[in-house]
Amino acid sequence: MPILPIVTYNDPILREKTQEVDSRTEVIDRFLEDLIETMYYSNGLGLAAPQVGSSHRIFVFDPDPMLEDDEEKLGLIVCINPMIIEQSSQQVSMDEGCLSIPDVKDMVKRAETITLQYLDEHFVEHTRNFSGWPARIILHEYDHLDGILFIDHLSSFRRRMHKSQLKAIEAGEAEAPYPISPKKHST
Ligand SMILES: [Zn+2]
Repeated sequence: MPILPIVTYNDPILREKTQEVDSRTEVIDRFLEDLIETMYYSNGLGLAAPQVGSSHRIFVFDPDPMLEDDEEKLGLIVCINPMIIEQSSQQVSMDEGCLSIPDVKDMVKRAETITLQYLDEHFVEHTRNFSGWPARIILHEYDHLDGILFIDHLSSFRRRMHKSQLKAIEAGEAEAPYPISPKKHST
């Protein structure tokens, strides 16, 4: 199973809206395997299809590394054609980063609890409530499916704080401990 390069924030595919998946096929099965493998390889808590250059409405996540010992572990969750059907008006600020925006982290305010409807890897439908880290990761990945990045939620002041790193990413000069694209080749 190949590790897919992760596209960085200046790639236009990250700004496109994704397409719903019609049915389970071998191609989708294989894509899911690669997406999951790439997420774990990159030490990501979640990964959305556009981040590996695909326009499928799919993301995967595994919040367990962020959960406390006494919290219920969720393990890997595959979300195909997800839909947020409810969000709490109660919001919380949490620190976020993104594999597509290496070395940029900032606080983002989002709903504390959500209800998500999605198909799993067997195309079985679920409706589930999430809160805390799982809700946070889902909202971040869900944004990716609509062409939204976490830095879009920052004030222009906070965004300016990250300007030099964003410019480095644009120039293909960013470094990451996983394959990224586009990247300038150095000899
Ligand atoms: Zn992201």
